Amino acid sequence: MQAVGFQEHGDAGVLQLLDLPDPTPGAGQVVVDIRAVAVNHLDIWVRRGWPGLNLPRPFILGSDMAGVIRSVSPDVTAWKPGDEVIVSPGTSCGVCRYCLSGEDSVCARYGIHGETQNGGYTQQFRTSASHLLAKPLRLTFPEAASFPLTFLTAWRMLMVRAQVRPGESVLVMGASAGVSVAGIQLCKLAGATVIAATGDDDKAQRARALGADHVVDSRGELKKQVGALVGREGVDLVFEHVGGPSFRAALGVLRKGGRLVTCGATSGSQVEMDLRHIFFKQQSIIGSTMGSRADLLAVTRLFEQGRLRPVVDQVLPLAEAARAHTLLEERKHFGKVVLAP
Ligand SMILES: [Zn+2]
Repeated sequence: MQAVGFQEHGDAGVLQLLDLPDPTPGAGQVVVDIRAVAVNHLDIWVRRGWPGLNLPRPFILGSDMAGVIRSVSPDVTAWKPGDEVIVSPGTSCGVCRYCLSGEDSVCARYGIHGETQNGGYTQQFRTSASHLLAKPLRLTFPEAASFPLTFLTAWRMLMVRAQVRPGESVLVMGASAGVSVAGIQLCKLAGATVIAATGDDDKAQRARALGADHVVDSRGELKKQVGALVGREGVDLVFEHVGGPSFRAALGVLRKGGRLVTCGATSGSQVEMDLRHIFFKQQSIIGSTMGSRADLLAVTRLFEQGRLRPVVDQVLPLAEAARAHTLLEERKHFGKVVLAP
């Protein structure tokens, strides 16, 4: 089978097409013919590497997979060859107190396909049968691969951690990112008013088409623009994943008693803030990462019902993984870039 992996960290040029032996399922496992695997910013972080990261080589990226079951171990009864599935991006031990209480994303052994173990830039993927969910029938394979990681993350941020309520105003930062595409839709489903922040006119249009009630220009002064929409008091909730100066600007338009929920720091993880503002204004800063299997089931059900829309920017052949990475790095996309092995 073919796969795309890297031996050394570096720019998109380190991605190589590889010929690897076909996998066979071990006890409790299945092998999935991967029909589509989405590219996430996570893939780029892992490809570039960070101090202390120690991965098997060659390492294969890819967290969001959809495909058809090719073979199953004799002890697997829940799935059979031919079943159309998505693969959960997250893996966990399944037996600790967090896993048993449905909080698997805080498990000490929580892992992510394509980050802590090999992922789905491959024609065949071997995984535990317990990591599979049925693919929503109404979605194509690229659509099914486009949603797990980002919608799972956004669901947990909004529904579990920040608990968005009908009628609330939500400022969604970095509105063209995959997690924001999910965030905008989930806020609308929850009955909130969405203010999307983006620095690109074309992406502003697309955010509106997804349901954003208002769009503000993140290149301009946020306080003035948001104030004109919701009043000087500010928004009830900020949906953040950009970090750096954006985080501070977003905090500046949060009302007293408001919440800021964050899952990322693509523009910088060190932020200076005035703690007096946080305690005097009784604000909450809420961390969130990935989500549980139950969170993934919740969003999958909404896709089955047609109440959430997958947003696929384009589908490229697996061999063009490097080009897909460059598209993400140059921020030329809106929605997911998907590879078809
Ligand atoms: Zn666990």
